[in-house]
Amino acid sequence: MAKKGWDEFEIGAMLRTFDGKIDDIAGTQQEDRAYSQSSSYTASVADWRLIKPIFNKDYCIDCQFCWIYCPDVSIIARDKKLIGVDMDHCKGCGICVEVCPTNPKSLLMFPEQADEETEIASWPKKDEKEE
Ligand code: SF4
Ligand code: SF4
Repeated sequence: MAKKGWDEFEIGAMLRTFDGKIDDIAGTQQEDRAYSQSSSYTASVADWRLIKPIFNKDYCIDCQFCWIYCPDVSIIARDKKLIGVDMDHCKGCGICVEVCPTNPKSLLMFPEQADEETEIASWPKKDEKEE
């Protein structure tokens, strides 16, 4: 299908999410699915973002809260273990950080230009309870 802009489709046009047949969509990883050219999954929206989440696996307890709450399905998990963030689709809303229950948090927001290794090396320490 030729690539069209959002305002070039006829009113009522049906846009397919996938090309071809997909028998087990739930069991197919995102990167292996045959997304069509009219699906928003094929477009990177990374340049909208001003701040981004950085994931520190050292504190993660794999609770999957971030995966459940992310409104853009941008948290990547395999076998119930969090492995990172899909930076092509993350909008930088920060919800994943809000719901992360660890102390310190395993996801924190940083400016878009921040270097992941540098930020992980200076990750905040555990907040102690006040007596
Ligand atoms: S910042 Fe928002 S869009 Fe990005 S991974 Fe977190 S919850 Fe998802
Ligand atoms: S919410 Fe935090 S602890 Fe839970 S899976 Fe996500 S990063 Fe890990």
